[in-house]
Amino acid sequence: MSAPVVAMDVGGTFIKGAVVTGMITAGRPPAVRRWATGADGGVTGEELLGRIAAVARELIGRCREEEGAAPAAVGVAIPGLVEEERGRSVRSVNLGWRDLEVRQRLEKDLGIPVRVCHDVRAGGVAEARAGAATGRGTAAFVPVGTGIAAALLTGGRPMPGAHFAAGEIGHLPVRAGTIPCPCGRKGCIEAVASASAIARRYREMTGTDATAAQVADLAAGGSDPARRIWDDAVQALADGLSFLTHTFDPEVVVIGGGLAKAGPRLLAPLREAMRARALDEHHLPQVVPAAFSDHAGCAGAALLARETI
Ligand SMILES: [Zn+2]
Repeated sequence: MSAPVVAMDVGGTFIKGAVVTGMITAGRPPAVRRWATGADGGVTGEELLGRIAAVARELIGRCREEEGAAPAAVGVAIPGLVEEERGRSVRSVNLGWRDLEVRQRLEKDLGIPVRVCHDVRAGGVAEARAGAATGRGTAAFVPVGTGIAAALLTGGRPMPGAHFAAGEIGHLPVRAGTIPCPCGRKGCIEAVASASAIARRYREMTGTDATAAQVADLAAGGSDPARRIWDDAVQALADGLSFLTHTFDPEVVVIGGGLAKAGPRLLAPLREAMRARALDEHHLPQVVPAAFSDHAGCAGAALLARETI
């Protein structure tokens, strides 16, 4: 049950990885290290797959040294559209992949069972089985960072959907025709409520650089542009979560990613905005902060890797 495994979370900027032993709990998150992905520096999709294999080999070696045995499996969380049963990347814009048999290729290279999972769904598994949604029948995990997406879980199992795109709420047009989104359309949730959108809008409006968390602080301090931007973000996020709530009716919504670090400055107005959009009190999910912080992807990849043993 708690055999050592190697867990990795591959993002556009970093590969996070850890050797995971023993129980996985939010109070005992995996000891995660980082490697540069290089995906933004002209690395091809094939080269990136090689880099992931190299990091996996390094972690396998580390596991042999520290635990005296090879890991029983490797779990790899990746972004984009992921067919988990086959371990295939259908498409990942961030990693430059299309129709790539990731699991098959890595297993051939590493000689160890590999479990490939979607990064947000892996994070959702960690929160549902060992984090903020433990013991809840239905839960949504919504990391808000550079992008916004949701993992929908029932009984600790994520629901990928027919085309592996369930919960992709980032480009719901909640403010159609207004703020341009990197996807080419206007008024998507991500264009208003993502951490990067908040920072970008603040820079455009004031000519000053500030992170989303700093904008939250400035808004709380009474700064007018910061308050407007922060309120827009909260309302747009509430629109998206309200849509999710009316469709999926989760018991709890776990907010993760960089924006969750704003704590009550995000969660208090968000709960209020969702209450205003609810049909009645009975349809309101609890809205809570993630327990695993930045390591949900690795924790989930480790939990899913253990299932292959
Ligand atoms: Zn968009």
